[in-house]
Amino acid sequence: MTAVHESVLDAIGGTPLFRLARLGADLAAPVYAKAEFLNIGGSVKDRAALSMILAAERDGLLKPGGTVVEATSGNTGIGLAIVGRQRGYRVIAGVSDRSASEKSDILRAYGAEVVIAPTALPREDPGHLFNVVQRLAEEIPGAWLANQYDNQANPDAHVRTTGPEIWEQTGGRVTHFVAGVGTGGTVTGTGGYLKQVSGGTVTVVGADPESSSYGGGDGSPWFVESIGHFLHPGTVEDRRPQAYRAEVVDSFERIPDRESLLTARRLAREEGILAGPSSGAAVAAALRVARRLGPDDLVVVLLPDSGRSYLSKVHSDAWMREWGFLEEPGETALREALAAAGPLVAVPADATVGGAVEALRDVPGGVAPAVLARAARPFGVSATEVVGSVSREVLAAALADGGAEPGDPLGALLGPALPTVGVGQSVAEARSALAGGHPAVLVLVDGRVAGLLPREAVSS
Ligand code: PMP
Repeated sequence: MTAVHESVLDAIGGTPLFRLARLGADLAAPVYAKAEFLNIGGSVKDRAALSMILAAERDGLLKPGGTVVEATSGNTGIGLAIVGRQRGYRVIAGVSDRSASEKSDILRAYGAEVVIAPTALPREDPGHLFNVVQRLAEEIPGAWLANQYDNQANPDAHVRTTGPEIWEQTGGRVTHFVAGVGTGGTVTGTGGYLKQVSGGTVTVVGADPESSSYGGGDGSPWFVESIGHFLHPGTVEDRRPQAYRAEVVDSFERIPDRESLLTARRLAREEGILAGPSSGAAVAAALRVARRLGPDDLVVVLLPDSGRSYLSKVHSDAWMREWGFLEEPGETALREALAAAGPLVAVPADATVGGAVEALRDVPGGVAPAVLARAARPFGVSATEVVGSVSREVLAAALADGGAEPGDPLGALLGPALPTVGVGQSVAEARSALAGGHPAVLVLVDGRVAGLLPREAVSS
């Protein structure tokens, strides 16, 4: 008998498990996916949103006529919009400019006001999304900042609902729980509950983007949104969310973006489950874990949201190709051109003019990307860190006419960022990227700058 609800709020939680029969076909241990995209707002964050609003009402922080404010990659805002509007509040969602645009459209559809702000700034920068929403919450009378990162009602939602559901659905047979870590609410609450109820026998595994700092990366950018811990090079104080308790996570699987994205696409095609990129990361991690297990083990992996929010990203062939995550078998021309090109030189945007001249001394073509980062990046320079370009010609002219001294900051002499193509795109596409008169094109592999091709290399 299908449920009949008096309110959509009663339809939050109670999501099914699906066996990943095809992706896990050659594994001894069964892998079950917890389908959080079936929540009424389409994600696991409906649970946290309901829990946080009820707790705020109980604690007198949110009163009739009040305003709910939150910084979100999208899903928490959607949950807050649904719950908040049902309970009579104005809802303002501050959304990261890195989030898929579909999530902002969904927020507006539910009646939330959307403010887009950057997250790729030092945490202390007044323009950082977290500071923007903090100011809004202080300025608007009756406003309450949900603050999912530090709000205990976020993990508590999973202690009360997600954890017990998984324990009951598996008849207590679950041995491993795998989830991505954003605020940490899901992994802390669900994992903590499963450990406690099992007498400590359930192993909790975090699925983390390879360069995220939760699992040991340097915190440099990645492309799977809503999970991981990013660290801008200019951030002074790195704060971990209080919703995250590190001791609950026994180990991390560090998943490169390509593996996460391609797994999300396989989930749709092979399992009939259209989920988002963080689900791809979680399933990739779960498959790695299950490969090491036997028939008496049982893995549950949590799929946070739906792929419908990412039709313009992971589920778009064009997007995947543009960022260098997808290559058709015949499209190898740019890879071959890259192999023939010299090693990539990137100049830090905060270098001096003299430092840049030195860095460009032996660079063929005399042009390099300027990047907003320490030059050395163990995972390569993310395409999102490129802020401009440096040209030997421009530097030489400025030094010759006295416009610049070698000790001056490079900033004023930076040119526009070079255009980019994905490694699986064609030479013709690289050529059309150069149509604006740029001297070179950057070739991306896995969202990172793998090399630079001067105009001559793609002009024939
Ligand atoms: N995946 C997606 C798509 C999400 O929206 C979130 C929450 N921002 C997460 C994973 C991570 O969940 P949590 O914040 O509970 O760690």
